[in-house]
This record gives sequence, structure tokens and C-alpha cells, in this order.
Amino acid sequence: MERFQQYIDGQFSDGAGRFDSLDPATGQAWASMPDANAGDVDRAVRAADRAFRDPAWAGLTATARGRLLFRLADLVAEAAPRLAALETRDTGKIIRETGAQIAYVADYYRYYAGLADKIEGAHLPIDKPDMEVWLRREPVGVVAAIVPWNSQLFLSAVKLGPALAAGCTVVLKASEDGPAPLLKFARLVDRAGFPPGVVNILTGGPQAGRALTSHPLVAHIAFTGGPDTARHILRASAENLSRTSLELGGKSPFVVFDDADLDSAANAQVAGIFAATGQSCVAGSRLIVQASVHEALLARLVAKANAAAIGVPDRMETEIGPLCTARQRDRIDRIVQDSIAAGAVLRAGGVVPEGPGFFYPPTILDCSDAPDAPCVTQELFGPVLSVLSFDTEEQALHLANDTPFGLASGVFTRSLTRAHRMIRGLRAGVVWVNTYRAVSPMAPFGGHGLSGQGREGGLAAALDYTTVKTVWLRVSDDPIPDPFIMR
Ligand code: NAD
Repeated sequence: MERFQQYIDGQFSDGAGRFDSLDPATGQAWASMPDANAGDVDRAVRAADRAFRDPAWAGLTATARGRLLFRLADLVAEAAPRLAALETRDTGKIIRETGAQIAYVADYYRYYAGLADKIEGAHLPIDKPDMEVWLRREPVGVVAAIVPWNSQLFLSAVKLGPALAAGCTVVLKASEDGPAPLLKFARLVDRAGFPPGVVNILTGGPQAGRALTSHPLVAHIAFTGGPDTARHILRASAENLSRTSLELGGKSPFVVFDDADLDSAANAQVAGIFAATGQSCVAGSRLIVQASVHEALLARLVAKANAAAIGVPDRMETEIGPLCTARQRDRIDRIVQDSIAAGAVLRAGGVVPEGPGFFYPPTILDCSDAPDAPCVTQELFGPVLSVLSFDTEEQALHLANDTPFGLASGVFTRSLTRAHRMIRGLRAGVVWVNTYRAVSPMAPFGGHGLSGQGREGGLAAALDYTTVKTVWLRVSDDPIPDPFIMR
């Protein structure tokens, strides 16, 4: 079995405990992982706090911080095939996806490397003639970054990149499921030459997460995961009044009008729900289709679902790999069966395949007559599409917004005016029109409602890791006048 280590204060070490990681394609243990306890977390946070104030990091110019990030980007690009193979092995995400996604992760680090010395303060045209007033943008402090199992390298890049560009230090907790790629990534951080303690990477479950989010030296918690965990995190942050940014789940609508290019819509819908075997926060899990093309679109989707190549994730021809954990597969199957019992009509998949591994087939449930079925209302985080029908644009918008989530949304139509009306009406952090699932380092990403708060990506994400210091400088040599009058 391969043995991985955690990275604290520039040193690799075993955690307080250890646990086995399972290969989702076989269900067999393949690697031994460190399991951080509260003591490990405390050492990591203290190291990050020391590093935050140490001139080895705090004294670097923003340009020098950017150089370190450029070096990290190059190392990630070079190691991308090996990191992709590890993520595929440890999480079951297909190699076609991990390969492309991790190569793109390097671009996220490049973007924030270039941004490091463009985070500017400001000079104010103040209303007092004898004063100079300006704003300094300063790093907020130690950042606790927590990610879920899917896309751990990607989801940590959108936190580490802006936090380091801003001058913060970071303790990153990988998920207890599939942490191998992040623990290997720690070797690249080390090689890039960041001073000890600037980036610390450990893994462990809720116990390590609680120790991290309730630590009094943490200034900002950057979390990606589910809404229930986010509630715990907000409670923990209340103790120390630490800042939070929350990227949570979704139940994103994918709306198709009858004037749309149905072949394109079908391909985008497949990307939206079956890519990453549905383990994607932006999964377009509710297809909302105009009744007049309901059957035409569904026939295309059923054919694609039935033809999808299910198999071991490390083969390039595989399109649907296993889910990350048996727990996740069993939960998805339970919701599918409950939805069928509630009146949803099974059009594809829905049966756990025989054999080893945590596989679940691409599944389509027609919920036209069961709009309250659990598959319509709950996030499954799996390859399950729920289909709803509408007649009018107003109904489409009502169905699309009928969710406490608000992360992503998609609209397929050839009508420019209708597209604009939908863009205005959809309650979501991202609207994709005649496309789906496109992301970029330059584009802010995030949601509202149960999908979270704050944005990752773009300049705003780096500003999120800063605090504004207002500086007043009196430029007069005259004695200070009457001290009892505020001026
Ligand atoms: P989860 O919330 O169970 O776990 C996420 C992380 O939180 C893990 O590292 C876990 O160890 C940690 N954690 C668990 N309990 C904790 C606690 N009490 N305090 C601190 N940390 C704790 O999420 P999951 O089930 O692993 O991931 C799936 C969820 O993540 C889905 O809801 C999905 O939509 C969401 N997600 C969102 C985005 C986004 O960018 N919006 C991206 C990917 C996934």
C-alpha cells in the first residue's frame, strides 16, 4: 500500500492516526493516509500564524509572492498527468476529466500569480485640506481552507491562489475521501520554495474540520462542501468572529425551450449531469423542458445514457466511473427508489450494477407527474437527472427558481429576447446560455441561498482575503487646535 504524509510547517510527517483509502473502482484499500487530530491541526495553525508574521513571507514584495505562485503553477502543469492518475485512483473520477481539469488548475495558479502585484489600495480625495488619507489592502491572516472529495486540486486552487496572492498563509484540510492528490501536491508546494508554514496540508474528517474552524488563530474560513456542514462552520466561526466564504451545493435548473438546438442541448445536458459521474456542485440535475419537445429531448438523453461507457476510471474510453464512496452510491440509490415510489417514471438506469466498485448508472427520472419527488428537491451529487415539463416561459421560470439553492442555471433557446428575460429572472450565481459547465479563473463563481455566500475566481476573490486599513496622515506643522472638537 502507498503511504501518504501530511505537511506541517515545511515538514512531512505522519498524522496522529491513520486510515485506509479505498479504490472506488474495486472497493479495496490501496493507500494509507494520515488522520489529523486536534493536536496536528493546532500545530498547523500555529505554524501558519508564525509564518504570517515572519519576514520570510510577510517581508516579500507582492511580485515575489507572485513568482512563487508562477513556480507552483509550472510544477502543477508538469506533474498534471501524475496528479490526475492519483485523483482518478483515489476518487474514481475518470482520467479523461482529471487530466484536463488538473492541467487547467495550473492556469488558476498563473492567474493569481499575475494578480499578486495588482491588488491595489487607494488614495482618497478627503474633505480636509491638511490630511492625506489612503487605504492599504492587507492580508487578512491565517486562512482555513476545507474541500470536499470531488476535484480537490481544483477546489483548493481557487482558495490557495487568491489567499497566497493576497499574502495570507493557509491550512488546507483535504477531504477524508480521496485525499491522495492534495497530499502529493504538498510536495510541489515544498519544491516551489514557499517558506515553512505558509501552506500546510493535512487530511482528516469532521473532527479535524471542527478543530480547524474553531481555532482562535484562524481569520478566514474558505469552505466548499454541503449546507449541513456549512451550518456547523458558521457556528464555529461565531466563536472567533472569523470571516467565512461558503461554496455549497446546488439543484441547478437546465431549461430547454422548443426553439433550441436539441442536439446541442442534449450534449450540454449530458455534460451537466453525467460528467464527473454527477459529483459536481453545478450539476444541471433538473431538466425543465418545454412540453412540445419533451419526448424529443428525452429520447436523445435516454439513448446517450444507455450508450455511456461505464467502466474503470483510468481508461480513456470510460465516460462514467464509480462514485467516490459506497455511502454515496447507497444514498443515491435510496433517493432514486423513493422517487420512483413517489411517482417518478424511470427512463434509464436506476439499478446498481453487479460486481465490485461503487458504480451507479446514468439515471433519468421523468418527474412530470411527481414534481415533489425527493430526486427533484434534494441534491443527490450523482448521475441522476430529474425531468420536469412546462408550457409557458413564466412556468419555466417558476419551476427553475422553485428551490432553496441558487448556484448555477442553464438556458437553451435561440430567442435573444427570451434569453435576456431568463437571465434577468433566474435566481442563481451563474447563468449559462446555450452552453453549460464552462469555468475560468477570470470569472467569479458562487451562489446564494443554500448554495452559499462569497465568490471564488476573478479579482474579487483575492480582495476577499484582504482587509482595508485606512491611514490618516496630517501634513500640517501647525499645533493641533481645540482637542475637544472633532474635525
Ligand atoms: P461535506 O460538507 O460532508 O464535507 C466537506 C468537507 O468538510 C470535508 O473535508 C469534511 O471532512 C469537512 N467537514 C465535515 N464536517 C465538518 C465540520 N463539522 N467542521 C468542519 N469541516 C467538516 O461535503 P461532501 O459531502 O464531502 O461534498 C459534497 C458537497 O460539496 C455537495 O453538497 C456539493 O454540492 C458541494 N460542493 C460544492 C462546490 C462549490 O463550489 N459550490 C464544489 C464541489 C462540491
